[in-house]
Amino acid sequence: MKLFNTLSRRKEEFVPLEEGKVRMYVCGPTVYNLIHIGNARPMIIFDTVRRYMEYKGYEVNFVSNFTDVDDKIIKKAIEEGVSADEISNRYIEECKKDMAGMNVKPATTHPQATQEIDGMIEMIQTLIDKGYAYVVEDGTVYFRVKKFSEYGKLSHKNLDDLQSGFRALQVSGEDQKEDPMDFVLWKPKKEGEPYWKSPWCDGRPGWHIECSVMSKKYLGEEIDIHAGGEDLIFPHHENEIAQSECCNGKTFARYWMHNGFLNIDNKKMSKSLGNFRTVREISKQYDLQVLRFFMLNAHYRSPLNFSADLMEASKNALERIVEAAGRLKDRKAAAAVQELQGNEEALLKETQSYVAKFEEAMDDDFNTADALAAIFELVKFANTNVTENSSYAFADGLLSILLKLCDVLGLIVDKKEEILDKEIEDLIAERQAARKAKNFARADEIRDELLGKGIILKDTREGVKWKRA
Ligand code: AMP
Ligand code: ZN
Repeated sequence: MKLFNTLSRRKEEFVPLEEGKVRMYVCGPTVYNLIHIGNARPMIIFDTVRRYMEYKGYEVNFVSNFTDVDDKIIKKAIEEGVSADEISNRYIEECKKDMAGMNVKPATTHPQATQEIDGMIEMIQTLIDKGYAYVVEDGTVYFRVKKFSEYGKLSHKNLDDLQSGFRALQVSGEDQKEDPMDFVLWKPKKEGEPYWKSPWCDGRPGWHIECSVMSKKYLGEEIDIHAGGEDLIFPHHENEIAQSECCNGKTFARYWMHNGFLNIDNKKMSKSLGNFRTVREISKQYDLQVLRFFMLNAHYRSPLNFSADLMEASKNALERIVEAAGRLKDRKAAAAVQELQGNEEALLKETQSYVAKFEEAMDDDFNTADALAAIFELVKFANTNVTENSSYAFADGLLSILLKLCDVLGLIVDKKEEILDKEIEDLIAERQAARKAKNFARADEIRDELLGKGIILKDTREGVKWKRA
């Protein structure tokens, strides 16, 4: 399995630190609003990376944080006249709902910055003790960038260029810094903001330190993969490397993966342009599986443009897989022959070539677009080779391969037939009427139909009771 490592700018063979295990950290969202479809891209992509690794037999320890202390959260809390905690807890819950809708598995651990302040204070103190950080008069703690000679290795930036850039950008109030490149580890509280006690001042952590601390606590000092959107390469991930490697004296992460940006109608998606779309809005219009398909149909490192046309095309394409799965299910139900017959065994063996194509695509830096192409070849094969004479075992064999590959991509194509309470009750009433009229055949038919939809009927003295299986 090869993956593109931002650190070396090359595709590299994946070799885990510990055989059979993957330790992976993905920077999660800042929770002050419903997540937008840009935030959804790393969620879907890295969930797919995780699923593929699990399919390959790895045990994946997957950690993804919620940034729950931040200027934007505080601003929103002030606007609404509620606490910052109320805002972040609300949007963490909403984010989890959207994740479930997109079939993104919950992380092994979802740490929250505000729960890990002690660890942050400890790491900052170590950095100060080792000479990598310093405290200025008002209690702000800065990281001393120049002391870390490898600074810039992830973003491939040259320290001299960086320094002149930073000098031009220097904002007032930052003149306490020894060097314009230095970044904040801890900052003093402002009126009305949440704060914590620390040896330097009452205040709160800078953004970068949280990921270094949570990654160390839940995954250890050295991890396999650290991931996020490409906007995080600099400065966030560069700063995480500086903090972690200076504190621990070890390589922080071996592989750095970054997804490309999601644009909208060929423009950058931003609040100020008003072209901002939340996952929740999309869910009103489409099944979120369509959004997932749309994301996976492009390479994760390429920029991706969100448009109504592409979403419609994704919807239709996904429908083709769902229909094929439905046809295979129908064939199973209607098959007269149970065992494989004729050339079915040979045909089933042929499908291994599609599985091989799928794996080859995924092994090549998670080329999900080519993996989907392999799934469509399998769909075509099933549509061509399954006839009304096919056996149960043949339809079942094809269906299980199709469902397995789709599951690796997190695509749900096995639609359970939804039945509403009202429809159930209407059918029960019709069954009662049929019984009264001594039309037992129709009554049994209705019972079987309901059973097929997972509804179990029970005749009791008080009448018919039902439950979902
Ligand atoms: P944030 O809440 O801004 O910290 O972002 C959370 C995650 O979403 C990070 O990994 C970002 O890189 C990613 N992200 C934000 N906007 C986009 C976008 N338009 N396209 C792709 N990824 C994005
Ligand atoms: Zn992070």
